[in-house]
Formats: sequence, C-alpha cells, structure tokens
Amino acid sequence: MPRKLFVTTALPYANAAFHIGHMMEYIQADTWVRAQRMKGSEVHFVCADDAHGAPIMIAADKAGLTPQQFVAGIAAGRAQYLDGFHIAFDNWHSTDGVENHRLAQSIYLALRDKDLIATRTIEQFYDPQKGMFLPDRFIKGDCPKCGASDQYGDNCEACGAVYAATDLKNPRSALSGATPVMRSSEHFFFKLSDPRCVEFLERWTQDGKLQSEVANKVREWFSRDYNGLSGLADWDISRDAPYFGIEIPGAPGKYFYVWLDAPVGYLASLENLFAKRAQDGSDGAAACAAYLADPQLEQVHFIGKDIVTFHTLFWPAMLYFSGRKVPDHIHVHGFLTVNNDKMSKSRGTGISPLRYLELGLDPEWLRYYIAAKLNARVEDIDFNPEDFIARVNSDLVGKYINIASRAAGFLAKRFDGQLSSDLGVEGRLLLDGLRAQRAAIEELYETREFGKAVRETMLLADRVNAYVDQHKPWELAKQAGADGEAGAAQRAALHDVCSVCIEAFRLLTIYLKPILPALAAQVEAFLQVPPLQFADAEQALGQHRIADYKHLMQRVDAAKLDALLTPPAPAVVLPGGEAMADEISIADFADRRRQHQAAAAHARCR
Ligand SMILES: [Zn+2]
Repeated sequence: MPRKLFVTTALPYANAAFHIGHMMEYIQADTWVRAQRMKGSEVHFVCADDAHGAPIMIAADKAGLTPQQFVAGIAAGRAQYLDGFHIAFDNWHSTDGVENHRLAQSIYLALRDKDLIATRTIEQFYDPQKGMFLPDRFIKGDCPKCGASDQYGDNCEACGAVYAATDLKNPRSALSGATPVMRSSEHFFFKLSDPRCVEFLERWTQDGKLQSEVANKVREWFSRDYNGLSGLADWDISRDAPYFGIEIPGAPGKYFYVWLDAPVGYLASLENLFAKRAQDGSDGAAACAAYLADPQLEQVHFIGKDIVTFHTLFWPAMLYFSGRKVPDHIHVHGFLTVNNDKMSKSRGTGISPLRYLELGLDPEWLRYYIAAKLNARVEDIDFNPEDFIARVNSDLVGKYINIASRAAGFLAKRFDGQLSSDLGVEGRLLLDGLRAQRAAIEELYETREFGKAVRETMLLADRVNAYVDQHKPWELAKQAGADGEAGAAQRAALHDVCSVCIEAFRLLTIYLKPILPALAAQVEAFLQVPPLQFADAEQALGQHRIADYKHLMQRVDAAKLDALLTPPAPAVVLPGGEAMADEISIADFADRRRQHQAAAAHARCR
C-alpha cells in the first residue's frame, strides 16, 4: 500500500508579492514531496492565498479596489514565482473561496455546539473618522515605557517593550490621524482554557508529532509556573464590520478573525482540487471528506517558526473539537537571512525571487543552495553569496555535472552512444558502493535532513571523480587509437570507464532529483530513460544507448549575483505586515505571552 500524504505550506498573506523566505519554505516542502513521490507515495500538495483581514481591506481601499479585486491581482502574480522555481503545488486556491466560507462556518458551529464558544464585551480603540475598530498595528503613539514617538500599538521598536494599545501615550489612528476613542463591542472567543482543550492539547503536542524543540517550547506554555502565568488564554476569534472576512453565522456584523479561517484554507484548497478533478460536476466536498476519513492518510503542514502557536494550539483544537482529522506532523523551519542580516520587508532588503529569475540565474542553483543548508531543526539559514558560488560551481557543477561531460563525448564519438555492460571489477565496486547509500539518502529526505543528503551525495561524487582520475579516460582515448591487441584493450577499457561514469551519473541524479527536478528531466532525456524513481537505483542501465550530450548547467556568474544583491528601491509596505510575519515566534514567546494575555482584553492585529 502506498503511503498517502496531504501536504501543505503556510498560506501567504495576499497583500504583497512573494519574498525569498516564501521560496525557501516552498523549496523545502516541494523537495520533500518530490522525494515522497519518488518512493511511490500518493501526495496531495496544496496551498492558497490568505485573503482576509484588515490590512488587505485597507490596502484595497487605498488602491481604489474591492478587496476581492486586490487579492485577485496578487494571486495573478503567483504562478511566475512557483513555475519559475519548479514548485509543483497540485492546487492554489484562496481563503475567500466558497469552500472556505462553508468549512469555516461549519467548524465554528460544531465548536459552538460543543459549548466551546463564549462571548464577552471588550473595550478597544475605534477610529471615529474611519468608522472602524483599529487593530493594534494601525494605532500609533508614544511608548509608555521610554516615550519614543511614532510607535505601534503592540510594541516599541526603540526599547522593545510590549504593551496593550490602550497603554500608548497620545494615541492616534494610523489610518486617519484621528484620536481614537474607546468603544465596547461584543467579541466571540474560542475557549482554549476549557479543561477539555487543555487536556487534548497537552496530549496532542507531546506525542511525537512535533520536533522535540517545538514540543518542549509548547510544553512550557501549559506550565503553571511559566513566566508567572498559568494555563491557556481564550482566543478572540471575532472582528467587527467593516472587515474583509467570513461572517459569523447568527451574528450580523461580526466576522471571523482572519487567523480562524486561514488554516481552514488548507482544507478548502484540497476540496477545491477534488472539485476540479471530479468528472461528474460535483463540488468535491464528498470526495474530499472520504479522502480525509482514510485512517492511513497523513496530514502534514510545513510552516515557519513565527506561526507555531496557530498550528500547535488553535488549529488542532479547532479540528479535533469539530470532529475532524487532526494534523499528523507540523514541520517547523527557521528564517532565511541574507549575509546574516535579518530580512525586513520594511527596510526593503533581501533578495527578490523575481529579480533572481529576470537576471537569468538558474532557479535550481537556489533550490540546491537552500537544500544544502536545510536540516530538520528550527534553525535560521543564511544566504551568503561567496558560499552560494562555491557550492554551485565547485560542488554541483564541478563534482556532479562534470562526471557526465567527461564521459559523454567519448561514448558518442567512439561508441555511438552505446554503453558497455561489462564495467570491470573496480567499476562494479564503485557502483555497488553508490547503490548501497540509497536507503540512507532516502531516509535523509524523509527526515528533512536535506543538507546531509546533499553532503552524502557529493561524497559519492568525490568517489566517482577519484575513479575517473585514476583511470584517465583521456589517456585511454589516446592509446585506443593504436593498432592491434593493445589498442583494442585500451578501447574496451575506455568504453567500460565511460560507461561506469554514466551509470554513476545516473545514480547521483536519482539522489539529487527531489532538489533538481528540471535538471533531472534533462538528464532523463540525455540517458533516454523514463522519469527516475528511487527504486531505479537498483537496476543498472546495462546494454543501453544514450543520446548526444548537451550542456546541462552553467557556472554562476558572480556579476549577476552582485546585481541581485544590489539593494532595490525601498518597497512600499503596508502597516500590519502580513499574517506570517507579525505573529508569535518561539524565540520571543516570553514577551508575546504577555501580549497574548493582553489580547484577551484588547483586539490585536486585524
Ligand atoms: Zn519604548
């Protein structure tokens, strides 16, 4: 029975184009999915735009568009990035799709039936000019701790203090400049503090689904002594009109907070995929439900470390208590820095993925570089240009691609592309050694230790290059021209050595294919073989004819990389950033924890 996997990446907030951090997550998940498929697993790999919330509503208003038009414009720009970097989602959808409205409402109603929804009247800042409640990021004022001016409503960039928006001195609306007034409103809460939720989450987060460092951090949140606080706080899941989102059933003028319906978008995108595939014109809901009901199915989410709380507390609790399948794995990664400088959208630094493509840089260099630096832990990785050039030029091209280019010419010219099936004792030993690593490399992909998979593969390439240096096909070629038996023996040796090189190159291509899908497709055409799977490592090509060798990959041109890293004009940034960037990270959870408590009384972002 093939393994069945439902895999997602985090949903990007639809107020801006992709940045390099998005591409890192997509490359990680896409590589993992491709490795799974090469093992025969059945995978559904989906994503969607996270379309709701105040920042999008406000940005659309500024642009003179409806939120739907604004989001559609962002969505239209997604494919060039995804196709450009060979990210092969099976479906891309939107959290404003009909499926998501229906699913989010149905999950909410199930939670309400379980008595897990409470209402409470809270006071929060209201912009009398704009006629709307203000998320914290849209309130500015003087820091209550250090007095720094022009600080946001949730924390001070000057002294790092975290506070409630109501603590700000001289508060003003970032939208209109008006002085906000306090106004009360009824909000809906998901009762995360309910003993049933606490009991479920303490169990669910500690039974091996999470990386140990994530599980350990989450455990602290339950601890009574942690940071002088106790237990989990209820989660404010409603926002008042005007709001771009999904209406709460039975509560006119109330909408789900964007973070309630965002992860539901995983299910909505899957259902939308089933609908697209349905031959009978059905909406896909029934087929999707049947798929999700399969006990063999594993649900896997790839996310960044900044959205751990949403995926380890709110999301599994929402699913469990609405009677749905809960996730099987949450794979958390760190951030990408550039030259050890934290990427900041507000400073407009970082690498533009689109500019990377426009400059003609090979997308698979980036895939290879990122894979070579990734591991299974929640660690930041750094993009360093010198390191990038060294790894691509010395390792990828110098060690791997060169194996084919060194052997293919002789085979084409002297043997009409025909491989020898008699590879010699040393050749067979070398190839057996390469094949013996297959299980280990498959396991490294399985456990997301891509850096180790690359390192192991490059060590194998070193062995092949040592074999080439020892047998010197270029000298064999010279001697193969001699008359008589001596010439014939050298000719046979040249044929064997070059055939060993091509078989070794095929094996290394299998091991790198999850990272380099487009290159692997070119190699498959060159070798005249069907799409390579891991199991193909076991069976040698034997008597087989290969096509003419065409140049497979360039070396990095340092000048182009310089052009990429030249800072672009500062980007226009919306207040509030995006869903994935302005929330809680593991590292700063202690401070955010207080904020979380404050959030029970004060509406936060969006
Ligand atoms: Zn301050």
